Amino acid sequence: MKFTTYRIFYILVLITVAIITFAYTEIEPPIQNKSTTKKVKNIIFFIGDGMGLSEITAASIVNGNFLNLEQFPVVGLVKTYSASHLITDSAAGATAYSTGHKTNNGSLAMDVNAKPLKTIMEMAEENKMATGIVVTCTVTHATPAAFYGHQPTRSNVNEQLASAFVNSGVDVLVGGGKKYFMERTDKHNLLDTLKKKGFNVIDSISEARNIHEGKLVCLMAPEQPVSLLNGRKSYLPEATAKAIELLKNNKEGFFLMVEGSQIDWGGHENNSDYIIKETIEFDQAIAEALKFAQLDSNTLIVVTADHETGGFSINGGSLENKTVQSAFTTDYHTATMIPVFADGANAQEFAGVYDNTDIFYKFLKVLGWDIPNK
Ligand code: MG
Ligand code: ZN
Repeated sequence: MKFTTYRIFYILVLITVAIITFAYTEIEPPIQNKSTTKKVKNIIFFIGDGMGLSEITAASIVNGNFLNLEQFPVVGLVKTYSASHLITDSAAGATAYSTGHKTNNGSLAMDVNAKPLKTIMEMAEENKMATGIVVTCTVTHATPAAFYGHQPTRSNVNEQLASAFVNSGVDVLVGGGKKYFMERTDKHNLLDTLKKKGFNVIDSISEARNIHEGKLVCLMAPEQPVSLLNGRKSYLPEATAKAIELLKNNKEGFFLMVEGSQIDWGGHENNSDYIIKETIEFDQAIAEALKFAQLDSNTLIVVTADHETGGFSINGGSLENKTVQSAFTTDYHTATMIPVFADGANAQEFAGVYDNTDIFYKFLKVLGWDIPNK
């Protein structure tokens, strides 16, 4: 190369480098990169048991073409199959969310070889977060139990799960199932044990109106609370608000799981009124979380389901009259993908189509925690 040619070549290279450098420094970093830097302080995780897209749509129509969860800016879809079945049950479904593992139907926070898996609620306890569980079934039922208990099968283990709860470190518990704490084959009264551990122990949420701090166990029925159709006084929204009020005082943040437990039972009964009433109550509980998150920019709210129930569909009806004509394909669960709604801090992580187990890893990512259970 001659000297002049070399110099022109050299200048061209310099100009190219300058253009590239300039162009790249002008590009905004993608949104995903921003999200990984800021940690979430509080997570409120809503599980509508059996709540698929038709259940949500039907509830919206009957509720006047509106649900609070329609405000959520981020929507995703999860695949719900378990390790053993295309169609999951609630035990394997909740275990996917609580541990990041697909397991056999019936297993609670254990892998396919019956090895216990650490749950996100146990990790939250280790990280000094406050924790809570609010449900409309017995507190030892599959969905809540998969967050604090470990059993190879969900059947006939209510008393063992009540004992596991007492040792779990969970700070707020609301639901049914008092009997499993009081009328036990081992004659222990676990409610006395909980009182000694400093819990406020009550049996209706209205009694909590004077409680503004400390730990709370509220067991409002001996076994399952009845359905709203059969006269349950709605408590899920007030209990959610109370749980947030008690847990938010913790400076390391909190993890709260709220379940609309009986949406699933309406599906099993092929009873659309049952499904719709329970879904609307669940949505009102979501409104309580939204109220809190609007004032606290470090709170993430995620709403999803473990599976759909009933093969529920809407074959007619009227927005004007707030009615649906429904049909069902089964009295069990189905394998259809399930929507995920996210709002608040790092909500964008929850967009896309992914496995139910990914919810657990997304929680870990936004909390800045390492992966356990490898
Ligand atoms: Mg459940
Ligand atoms: Zn079910």
